[in-house]
Amino acid sequence: SSNPGGSGWSGGGGFKNSPKLEGHGQPNEALKQERRALPIYPARQQLIAQIRRLPSAIVIGETGSGKTTQIPQYLLEAGVNGGAAIAITQPRRVAAVSVCQRVAQEKNTTVGTSVGYRIRFEDATSSSTKLIFMTDGMLLREAILDSKLTKYSVIVLDEAHERTVHTDVLFGVVKAAQNCRLKTGLKLLKIIVMSATMDVDHFSRYFNKAPVLYLEGRQFPIQVMHTAEPQSDYAFSSVVTLFKIHKEAPAREDVLIFLTGQDEIDSAVKQLRQLSRDMQDLPKLLILPLYAALPPQQQVKVFEKTPPGHRKVVIATNVAETSITIPGIKFVIDCGKVKAKVFNARTGLDILRVVNTSKAQTLQRTGRAGRESAGTCYRLFTEAQFGEMSSNTVPEIQRCNLSSVILQLMAMGISDVMTFDFMDKPDRESILAALTELELLGAVEKISESDMPKLTPLGKRMAAFPLDPKYAKIILLSQEYGCVEEVLTIVSILSVDDIFINQMNKRDEIQSVRQKFVSSEGDHITLLNTFRAFKSVNGNKAWCFENFINYRHINTAREVRKQLRDICSCQGIQFSSCGKDTENVRKCLAAGLFLNCAQLSKQGDFTTVSSRLTVSIHPASALFHCKPACVVYSELIKLGKNYMRNVSVVDPEWLQEVAPSYFKQKKVHLMT
Ligand code: ADP
Ligand code: MG
Repeated sequence: SSNPGGSGWSGGGGFKNSPKLEGHGQPNEALKQERRALPIYPARQQLIAQIRRLPSAIVIGETGSGKTTQIPQYLLEAGVNGGAAIAITQPRRVAAVSVCQRVAQEKNTTVGTSVGYRIRFEDATSSSTKLIFMTDGMLLREAILDSKLTKYSVIVLDEAHERTVHTDVLFGVVKAAQNCRLKTGLKLLKIIVMSATMDVDHFSRYFNKAPVLYLEGRQFPIQVMHTAEPQSDYAFSSVVTLFKIHKEAPAREDVLIFLTGQDEIDSAVKQLRQLSRDMQDLPKLLILPLYAALPPQQQVKVFEKTPPGHRKVVIATNVAETSITIPGIKFVIDCGKVKAKVFNARTGLDILRVVNTSKAQTLQRTGRAGRESAGTCYRLFTEAQFGEMSSNTVPEIQRCNLSSVILQLMAMGISDVMTFDFMDKPDRESILAALTELELLGAVEKISESDMPKLTPLGKRMAAFPLDPKYAKIILLSQEYGCVEEVLTIVSILSVDDIFINQMNKRDEIQSVRQKFVSSEGDHITLLNTFRAFKSVNGNKAWCFENFINYRHINTAREVRKQLRDICSCQGIQFSSCGKDTENVRKCLAAGLFLNCAQLSKQGDFTTVSSRLTVSIHPASALFHCKPACVVYSELIKLGKNYMRNVSVVDPEWLQEVAPSYFKQKKVHLMT
């Protein structure tokens, strides 16, 4: 996967037991009005009465009807939780934090009191928190420690239609917990599955025919426009389309643009701000980006009232598809693309790739235009292209690397992962690929063909880390290599968003400033050097600015490092440092990343050992101009070519030593 945790995280406000965010003063009459005006409000009594008597329920309602922000509050107000905590899972951490802040505001309280959130490495809850918004991945980790989830009386699996791997696994885990609690006479566990799409028979059947409660939606007519021709550059088309709207429609009507990722969004924002400065005669544009890595203060700006005479334009990833509802939107511009993980069971690799949206996703995006009044959706693709889209998104579990999830399931004591009660089973091949990877890493052992694979003591320890198994192993191994501190630093940085700031127009300046950190050993040691320098100036912000280092990201890495260090302490790991001699760090990386190794080919490219893929070193790498014989890498990305990112030079002999049978089986002769 792309980084140690699979999905990356970036710091928000606080971390573990984070500082309480500010409340919003006196009870706010306007907020109360807003709550009462939501489509869900008239249905609340009936809804709660039904949920009260049902062990499981499926709730369906159009995005923006109030499911996420209201139902947890209703449950609490009606005492359905019986005093215990209610967990509400979200596929995205942006949504977990933003929704939690909103609910705290509505309850006129501060985050971390009765309402809190928990995302990886950030815990804004206290012992008295009753509504806990968390990522699905967090709840899954809690289930490792307590498979019956005894702390909770109600679990709300929100945004179920997204079908992330973690939500899919949670379906099975909470269902098992519910059964188990029933059998052992513990307090009942109530399960509520919430979805924004209608195809829910599947959910209902899976949860023992749980009744489906429909919320009356509020949807105004939407005019849908397609392009006449396929668009080769959808980002550019979105800019053109926006200005067409801006010239024709009154300024108070806001626009939501769907693009695929941070870079694309940032450059569109820049371009639009520039263009709108040049067009003095038109009303002002308030252009706001929205994606996961954005600082929370900037995220909440999309909810603020648009100043008079301005038009708000939000440029978002698919986080705005269903997870976050932005008020005031009258126009949607949909590029018809989304960034998705694509897994190849043969190569064992997850690749993040821009793919077409499904019809269901397209319809969700269109729907964002008609929430408050009639609207228009401009699709940057033809009607024929729409016709060719698949009708539903394939659940992530059927298209991503499962090694991390399988390790977690096994750590929960579920030994027979092949027969685990998945709502939609992943391919047998993908499960086998994951088990093989775990076996090669030493986390799993198989005594004989007929035996069930078993978690090894090493595997159990690996599962304690909220990281991709490879990186958990590297941390555990670092004890033997005497470089725990260094490895912790590297893994922490790999887990956050890029700490380096790259600006095309300042490329030469950046390169010369960065030179002092660059190591001929590769990117991992370069990251280590950078962090060491950062520490030596006591995390100085101005220093970061001068050195083109993202202050927020490197600070997040520092926080993550603290947390990982705590886990190490709990695991009884002895801390050690290798000082200047970083060869052992690379040995250790080689021992954990041997599945990600590539050799220089005669043609001057590299070839991966695992799948004989032709790859190149990423231009941003410290090794871009070098031709080492053998390297390990942290991730592969596909940008036309396949690029390795975060690459380190290794000695082939080291690899041979750590996994002799693997290299033999691959029939690879590692040149020395
Ligand atoms: P659902 O889960 O059904 O999609 P939500 O409960 O997320 O609906 O949203 C209900 C309403 O609350 C939306 O209309 C949205 O505009 C508003 N809302 C949600 N979060 C915020 C926020 N952080 N700031 C302002 N309004 C918000
Ligand atoms: Mg919601």
